[in-house]
Amino acid sequence: NRQFLLTSRPVGMPADENFELREVTLPDLEDGQVLVRTLYLSVDPYMRGRMSDAKSYVEPYPLGEVLQGGVVGEIVESKNERWQPGDVVVGLLGWQDFSVSNGRGLLKIDPSVAPISTALGVVGMPGLTAYFGLLEIGQPQEGETVVVSGAAGAVGTIVGQIAKIKGCRVVGIAGDDEKCAYLTHELGFDVAINYKTTADMRAALKEACPNGVDVYFDNVGGEITDAVMSRINFQARIAICGQISQYNLEKPDLGPRVFTQLLKSSALAKGFIVNDYAKQHKEGMQQLGQWVMEGKIKYRENIVDGLENVVEAFLGLFRGDNIGKQLVKVADL
Ligand code: NDP
Repeated sequence: NRQFLLTSRPVGMPADENFELREVTLPDLEDGQVLVRTLYLSVDPYMRGRMSDAKSYVEPYPLGEVLQGGVVGEIVESKNERWQPGDVVVGLLGWQDFSVSNGRGLLKIDPSVAPISTALGVVGMPGLTAYFGLLEIGQPQEGETVVVSGAAGAVGTIVGQIAKIKGCRVVGIAGDDEKCAYLTHELGFDVAINYKTTADMRAALKEACPNGVDVYFDNVGGEITDAVMSRINFQARIAICGQISQYNLEKPDLGPRVFTQLLKSSALAKGFIVNDYAKQHKEGMQQLGQWVMEGKIKYRENIVDGLENVVEAFLGLFRGDNIGKQLVKVADL
């Protein structure tokens, strides 16, 4: 069984030397346990936070232990009557070929309904993040303008499409032309702005949002957010989902203070984590699944092959390698 450990805490951008791939033999199962064969692993930006020891809403990854994340896997052995070999499940498991679990927190998925990988993307955690952050905090109304940063990623692509379903004008901000073309040509965004090649983001936003910004779904923070904040409307709603531009900084980035902007526009800014809405997750998954089946939500996955490449796939999130959800395929079903 190959497994990845966190061996030291990264300072700035993580590097290979912070991780170790080792091989161990599998333990025998105890009563109540199941053995899960990893099929897909999810890499997510929040994992960067867990690699540090700063206090946050999830515990830091302990040093010298197997890294954890979203996994779709197949139960191959069971000493737990709730689970049978052949069951396909999603849950929080290790960056390894096989995980031993007591079954708690695992959710069974039906491979005949949708590709199993979608349980880590469009109908999984990122989809739910988009769904609840946009609908509960953003409260988008027909005809309003919604701006989303990190627009071509797992969460952003879904945010923009839900906003279109709700009848909004949608403007996405992303880091290359191919991503921008995907957003406007395939996902129906009204405008996409490449923040890496746009010299004056404020001017570009002014042109893209002639009626100002009613809802801002923030995945990135930093200067992009400063620019969007300069365009917010009276009673705008800002869902603070992520701040990826800040995750690898060694010193805090003190940008313009946004509170004046909020005050002047009677706007609401609210941070959230997807688990705040845990009680409604089932409803969210059903709605997202239905939109996918109806073709109202499209999704893309960027799949890297091989457990040995999981660190590289994770680091790719910070280079912007992915369009849609970044996954690692470890084995075939
Ligand atoms: P993505 O699929 O969006 O991948 C990350 C993307 O971020 C990259 O593709 C890259 O795209 C962009 N990016 C990387 N570095 C920067 C930077 N310095 N400035 C601007 N953009 C950058 O990831 P997710 O969709 O999984 O997550 C998106 C955000 O949502 C993250 O901030 C994450 O932490 C947050 N999140 C929050 C949750 C919550 O519960 N609150 C749950 C899930 C995610 P580009 O080429 O456009 O730069």
